[in-house]
Amino acid sequence: MTERHLNYIAGEWQPAFGGTTFEDRNPADERDLIGLFPDSDAADVTAAISGVSAAWPAWAAQSPEVRADVLFRAADIMARRADEIATELTREEGKTLTEARNEARRIAANFRLYAGEALRLNGETYPSDSAQLVLSLRQPVGVVAVITPWNFPLSMAARKLGPALAAGNGVVFKPSEITPLMGQRLVEVLLEAGLPPKLVALVQGKGAKVGQAITASAGVDALTFTGSYAVGKQIAASLSTDTRVQLEMGGKNATVVLVDAGIDKAVATIERGAFGLTGQACTGTSRVLVARPLYAELVARLEKSASAIKVGPGMAEGVQMGPLATRVQYDKVLAYVGIAREEGGRVVGGDALREADSNLAHGYFVRPAVVSDLPETSRLWREEIFGPVVAVRPIDSLDEAIKLADDTEYGLAVSLVTGDLPSVLRFARETQHGIVKVNSPTTGVSLNAPFGGLKHSSNQAAKEQGGANVMDFYSRIKSIYLGA
Ligand code: NAD
Repeated sequence: MTERHLNYIAGEWQPAFGGTTFEDRNPADERDLIGLFPDSDAADVTAAISGVSAAWPAWAAQSPEVRADVLFRAADIMARRADEIATELTREEGKTLTEARNEARRIAANFRLYAGEALRLNGETYPSDSAQLVLSLRQPVGVVAVITPWNFPLSMAARKLGPALAAGNGVVFKPSEITPLMGQRLVEVLLEAGLPPKLVALVQGKGAKVGQAITASAGVDALTFTGSYAVGKQIAASLSTDTRVQLEMGGKNATVVLVDAGIDKAVATIERGAFGLTGQACTGTSRVLVARPLYAELVARLEKSASAIKVGPGMAEGVQMGPLATRVQYDKVLAYVGIAREEGGRVVGGDALREADSNLAHGYFVRPAVVSDLPETSRLWREEIFGPVVAVRPIDSLDEAIKLADDTEYGLAVSLVTGDLPSVLRFARETQHGIVKVNSPTTGVSLNAPFGGLKHSSNQAAKEQGGANVMDFYSRIKSIYLGA
């Protein structure tokens, strides 16, 4: 029997007011229907916002220990359920079970981090004359809307829900329609941990309807979004000027290999960054700039290692790369492989395994692709593909490496493989990327370090994750002058 899932609005699990639903299917086997989810519209969003709006002041008035305790308990529950939820994550999004476990197991640490932030949400005092005491008071923002993508459906949501709740806000949460079950699981965990029922609302929906109703509402005080630049731009344009907004968006990330880098290390770094998570990471490596003397050997080694990657259902033993998450992603990746060929590039891999292998006929499987010898004007160099396709190009100097790495509208993550410290220092200072990794892949970040891009990758409202300013987005500061 098909499982019918519900929204969670004003403390009640309920279908969409309009009664319509959408399907959630397994990308490794599209015959596998995971369940039906409410296809909500503006009426559901209005009810969700009004429920959360009524609930958050009481939560904000609680002691910080109470808020921290809920998040600590959520962490314990998440730690206990991580492997079970990881299995569902693989079924819903497609990543391998190992990748899904890595994501699910990290959520406990995420919640603990923000439980700590609830206790540390300090104000400051300022030097003044003796007639008064001047201080700053941090208060919650109110109703925070959380809109998330599908590629890290647990961690993107946890790193927004965690700090929002820790700071005393209420949350209206709209997960991606590709991974609605993961959104639901997070809300269930928080409720089981003792979150006041009306403080969080879960509104599921397909397409732009729910997100647009959120951005059109005057009841949202802050909106935190992770997703594509195209959608982020629409959100920014449609919000009223007094809604604060945090936008974390796409990337066109490069790994630079300097002449002293060992080939083995360079190949391992690129392979992980480009093909891990089926290339569907915002920080995924999509371009490689390699010192000319190493170019031919690096291309050959990458082609060989990409061809050896075992592609298949994420649940199967020994599989190293799962399917793409949707049919749209599948068609898009194959289209870019076609563009690379039309542009005159040499392409190894990029085959549509769905057509080529009858065991994979019902999923969105492609072989990872290595593209070399592309012209400078290539679209592959500029546009975010969000799949396991990496383009390689030779460079003749560090100046050229910096120039080409930054020659993109995005500025999320960049990595450098070298032992040459002066080059590292210059590169790290000059590059226009928010995250600079040295001798490690563009992917993989610490949850206690600031996260965010530059240029089209972020509106830079406040960095996400656990840096010093992480709570700035979720709290307001009032300056208080206490006279005697
Ligand atoms: P997307 O922009 O298509 O969708 C993101 C979310 O926005 C979904 O929940 C979607 O339903 C919602 N949405 C769609 N239209 C909307 C509208 N008009 N108004 C409001 N909300 C709307 O992105 P996606 O395909 O889910 O995710 C892939 C993208 O996310 C890639 O570009 C990737 O680089 C980016 N991403 C960025 C980061 C980061 O931290 N910078 C992390 C993960 C993914």
